[in-house]
Amino acid sequence: MITHEAEFEGYSGREIILLCCAWGEELADGELTYYIGDHLINEGSNGDRYDVDRSSVEAVTKAFEEWDSKIEGLTFTQTSTRIGADVEIYFREGQNEKAGVTHNYYDFYGFISKSYVLISKGAFGFAFSNNQMEQIVKHEIGHVLGLGHANFDGNLMAGQVNRGIGSVSSCEIEAVYTANEWWFDKHSGSQPLFIRQSTTDHIDCG
Ligand SMILES: [Zn+2]
Repeated sequence: MITHEAEFEGYSGREIILLCCAWGEELADGELTYYIGDHLINEGSNGDRYDVDRSSVEAVTKAFEEWDSKIEGLTFTQTSTRIGADVEIYFREGQNEKAGVTHNYYDFYGFISKSYVLISKGAFGFAFSNNQMEQIVKHEIGHVLGLGHANFDGNLMAGQVNRGIGSVSSCEIEAVYTANEWWFDKHSGSQPLFIRQSTTDHIDCG
């Protein structure tokens, strides 16, 4: 089924992924670092701190590993401190309706300089399984890397998690390369890189 959100106007009959934006100079060494918060964020808690369980951390690590292995020219490296991390990812408890949220922050020129990702441990009173959590994290990493949503089901970037799938396909890979083409299309030789936005705002998956 095709969703009919305003952002997909003009793409009817085509299967596309929207592109949002490009990373800035943080990508210029081909590495993005990520930090996994080790305490649950609990809105409305009384100050108790709960550790994030090991299997949730593993789900995050596996999600980053899959993206890392599929995107050539990009390495994700985990850091033990949030200071200087390009991506910070946290788990939260509670009755959040959204499975995951990514906030990208931009530099003066409109390039991503930092990402914050919040993953819910459950929604609507249900706890997510490790596989579901891994899928949610992979979807959010798509946003981290400059992707918007897909306008069709059965894709990692489908707007609703339960209509998506859990693996990174060639269309998301192409989308990441295109969104950040200043880096992934880099010339061999002595030509200097200059950071620029993608020349297109979507990728055709058909
Ligand atoms: Zn999303």
